[in-house]
Amino acid sequence: MNDCIFCKIVKGEIPCYKIYENKDVLAFLDIENDVPGHTLVIPKKHLSDLDACDDDVFAKVLLASKKIVKHFLSLGYEGVNLVSNCKESSGQIVKHFHVHIFPRKTNDGAKLTMQPAKQKTSLELMAEKLRFED
Ligand code: 5GP
Ligand code: ZN
Repeated sequence: MNDCIFCKIVKGEIPCYKIYENKDVLAFLDIENDVPGHTLVIPKKHLSDLDACDDDVFAKVLLASKKIVKHFLSLGYEGVNLVSNCKESSGQIVKHFHVHIFPRKTNDGAKLTMQPAKQKTSLELMAEKLRFED
């Protein structure tokens, strides 16, 4: 049995304020109602997070997100933040892959912040640690 809240929204078992839908993707307002227009874009297929997403689904969600962003800009929003939390350590709560879109206007008072690290890490060492090739 699938207890995933977003799967229930896809099946219509839980209501949502739909913004956009196509064959593979659904976008609806985040229930938090924090930043006005905060939208979630999800694949209709259950995939727990970005790490579990195949390229095809990931591309479909991002292409739909781009379409939604363009639509929001056409409505008069001046910018957007796109965020996707992957796994609990990042703050992911709902384990069904999703992209947050925050529509933005200059001086709207919303702010996306990261806590600054207590200690600065050397960029050189970090690049050595993270660098990779295909
Ligand atoms: P996460 O922290 O996993 O990236 O974000 C999950 C988001 O899902 C949160 O912003 C939360 O407000 C939203 N959310 C959780 N349950 C529901 C729900 O039942 N309906 C809607 N529309 N959003 C939800
Ligand atoms: Zn799901």
